[in-house]
Amino acid sequence: MAGSNPNSSDLERFRSEAIDFLEAHAEPKAHAQAFVWGKGPDDPSLFEEVDREKELQELAEAKKWRATKFDAGFGWITGPTEWGGRGLSRRHERLFAELELRYEVPSQGFFGIGLGMVAPTIADHANPEVAADILPRMYRGDIVGCQLFSEPGAGSDLASLQMKAERDGEEWVVTGQKVWTSGAHYSEIGEVICRTDPDLPKHKGLTGFVVDMKAPGVEIRPLRQMTGGANFNEVFFNEVRVPDAWRLGQVNDGWRVALTTLMNERASIGGGPGYGGGFTRLKEMIRHFGLADDAIVRQQLMDLYIRGSVLRYNNHRAVAAMKRGELPGPEMSGAKLLLTENMRRTSAFVSHVLGPKLIADTGEWGTYSWSGYVLGMPGMAIAGGSDQVLRNILGERVLGLPKEPGIDTTSPFKDLKVGTQNRD
Ligand SMILES: Cc1cc2nc3c(=O)[nH]c(=O)nc-3n(C[C@H](O)[C@H](O)[C@H](O)COP(=O)(O)OP(=O)(O)OC[C@H]3O[C@@H](n4cnc5c(N)ncnc54)[C@H](O)[C@@H]3O)c2cc1C
Repeated sequence: MAGSNPNSSDLERFRSEAIDFLEAHAEPKAHAQAFVWGKGPDDPSLFEEVDREKELQELAEAKKWRATKFDAGFGWITGPTEWGGRGLSRRHERLFAELELRYEVPSQGFFGIGLGMVAPTIADHANPEVAADILPRMYRGDIVGCQLFSEPGAGSDLASLQMKAERDGEEWVVTGQKVWTSGAHYSEIGEVICRTDPDLPKHKGLTGFVVDMKAPGVEIRPLRQMTGGANFNEVFFNEVRVPDAWRLGQVNDGWRVALTTLMNERASIGGGPGYGGGFTRLKEMIRHFGLADDAIVRQQLMDLYIRGSVLRYNNHRAVAAMKRGELPGPEMSGAKLLLTENMRRTSAFVSHVLGPKLIADTGEWGTYSWSGYVLGMPGMAIAGGSDQVLRNILGERVLGLPKEPGIDTTSPFKDLKVGTQNRD
């Protein structure tokens, strides 16, 4: 989908066009200057904790910004021109993203799952007419997508899922329950994996579909997590009718479809050292609380720094491999594992430094606000492949250890070239 390698004058032209657009439509960020303790936003939470009314307002702003970008040619930089994209390279896309970071623009987190995971799967597996209809609307922000994979009895062992789809002429009838569906309540479409043949081995009887989240029979109920927010939901499908044209891939080949999404999921979660607002913030925290000379605290801080640097270099290596046209390998599983480990250590560090200020809200800047990070961290160690499952992947695919015994006798991964994208 992405265009060919650009030369430097191409990129320079694009850069000045992008700056003109950003200057005309957004305010430059005021706090490009050095971090100062007590100034600026102090909330490093890992999940948005706004109530659903406020969330809808933020969504409307986010959609408006996406539409403005799309209409100006910056919303789908690598997309095919016939679908409203620019047909440019990933370097152009990265350049725009870097420039955009310097401006105050609405959070684009609402689109993370839809554009990061669902859209690439639609591009690879949907029939061309459906892709041509849906993808431009997703990139313009007119519709948001969610991922309906997990079920009460199928998370790490995703292929055990039971939601069924039965064929009825040119439609399918979908019945069952999904759970932990992030953003289902504001999504217009979802990617769902269903069981279409219960007599086949579990990885073989699955089929993927795009579903209309507003269709009759779809019921969405919020699930509140310990951070206080309700980012995700349980979603019930009661005889929901889905056109066959909205099928992803071949009938009973849904595992391949799921793997495309999961590969993109892990790639989109990696990135960043996981400090929660930057290393300087942690450094200034120990200064502020008079712990800069404390040998244990300094040791912990340097440990975080070293681990963050290793993660950053690992990510550079993965990006370099992708630039060479290679698929991401087990380093994406390693990156996600390093990320959550750094988050776990950051949680322990701030808990040690802040003590009771972390759990009692005194109104002091940069203290209680960390509770959103500390309580959100365990979710990060589960979402997109739990730590234990990622360790299994590294053990088997990097160290070459024998596959752990499972209930299946044959491995569904034996022919897989890419080592990281599946939940086991
Ligand atoms: C913040 C968040 C957002 C999410 N968003 C979505 C979403 O949008 N869409 C969606 O479909 N799902 C979503 N999920 C669900 C997520 O994919 C699952 O929670 C995850 O796959 C784990 O499944 P499970 O919860 O059923 O736990 P289980 O699979 O039951 O695991 C329970 C425990 O057993 C361990 N375990 C399982 N198998 C093994 C093994 N083979 N070896 C060793 N240990 C093992 C796990 O590591 C875990 O500690 C989200 C989860 C979180 C936390």
